Amino acid sequence: MTNDNKLHIIIVGGGIAGLTAAIALRASNRKITVLEQSRLSREIGALISLQPNASRILRKTWKLDKEMEEARGLVDEGMRIYDVDGKLVNEIPLLSKTEYGGDRIVWHRNDLHTALKSAATSPNRGGDPATIQVASRVTSCDPVEGNVTLESGEVLTADVIIGADGIALRKYVLNDEPAAMPTGSSERMNEDPNSGESWVSEGSMEKMMEIFAEFPSWVSNIFKHSANIGLWQLRDMDPLATWVQGRVILIGDAAHPMLPTQGQGASQSIEDAEALGAFFEDVQKAPSLEQLDNIFKQVFQSRYERVSIIQGASRQAAKPGTKKGEKTVTMYTTLETNSIVNSLIEFLIRSPADSMDYNCTYRGAKQWVHSQAGSAV
Ligand SMILES: Cc1cc2nc3c(=O)[nH]c(=O)nc-3n(C[C@H](O)[C@H](O)[C@H](O)COP(=O)(O)OP(=O)(O)OC[C@H]3O[C@@H](n4cnc5c(N)ncnc54)[C@H](O)[C@@H]3O)c2cc1C
Repeated sequence: MTNDNKLHIIIVGGGIAGLTAAIALRASNRKITVLEQSRLSREIGALISLQPNASRILRKTWKLDKEMEEARGLVDEGMRIYDVDGKLVNEIPLLSKTEYGGDRIVWHRNDLHTALKSAATSPNRGGDPATIQVASRVTSCDPVEGNVTLESGEVLTADVIIGADGIALRKYVLNDEPAAMPTGSSERMNEDPNSGESWVSEGSMEKMMEIFAEFPSWVSNIFKHSANIGLWQLRDMDPLATWVQGRVILIGDAAHPMLPTQGQGASQSIEDAEALGAFFEDVQKAPSLEQLDNIFKQVFQSRYERVSIIQGASRQAAKPGTKKGEKTVTMYTTLETNSIVNSLIEFLIRSPADSMDYNCTYRGAKQWVHSQAGSAV
């Protein structure tokens, strides 16, 4: 493949999945290049939360305490569910640090992104720093030859290509382009659920106040102060058949887009990155296609079932918390029987505590494989 002795890795996409993959894969004798289409001057959106399963990886596995302090995250101590009359229905304290070995932390997206970028490229960490090449949009990919073509026409070759681009490399891996489904929630907020760039379209204050008219005034009073309203259409997708093709593996939203109702999208991307780091730990030079296929299979098998379950539970959690025309909150307290939903998702969605345990008692991909093998006996 490449003709020096280094392991060449191209990561397509400089979002949370791409940057954390660069952090996880950093090692000496590796040349890691992140190709990002934008200039990385601004992340769209404001708040993002990382759950204990991910914040634990940042702190304990990657030792990013300093970067996390600088990113000024706020520790979330619990969650309360209210009905539309403002009556408390359920309270879920997050005793994360003791139970899960990490906190649930909320960040401004830009701050988290800046911290991850710094950890990926800093010369002060172990392993060769990654290089981020901005304004470099990948327009095509040959998974077997191991190359990507940029918009400029330049062709770049690597031993390993990681598709962390949200969407672009999917078609080269699947030989197909599965369509994302607009969700019921997007139809309520967004007048045109099929508009292409719906996640950056402008919303109306009037429409928002109409939709939340029944909510208690302490909620709507906050909404009234919005300076501008952006609509992010939420689309959903079933688990993909595979994430792997030739020298390419998909991670993050490219591999498993999910609704944000469990706040696990970015956290699952971070788990993917940790899995790559773990299964590539002993790889020091360019692997043959066969060796690479074997490593990718281990990453995929360690991740696929878990992520698919979390994807399914996020879909379930997006269902309205009340029945049409009723005010009683049924979310997490009763369950609609649905033959499509597999039994584990049903079990998890029954209570937020079970769901939190499943999501957050995670100790890395290798340990997960080990524990699953144990529980299957
Ligand atoms: C409203 C909302 C709220 C959310 N809240 C949370 C939350 O609280 N907690 C949580 O864990 N998750 C949350 N998520 C989900 C989370 O944002 C995503 O799961 C996460 O950002 C996925 O990261 P990613 O790096 O895989 O993809 P992205 O963030 O989409 O990054 C992909 C990157 O690839 C680049 N790119 C795309 N195409 C190309 C190309 N052809 N060439 C080069 N570069 C390319 C893009 O510019 C981008 O920088 C939320 C999502 C939404 C919509």
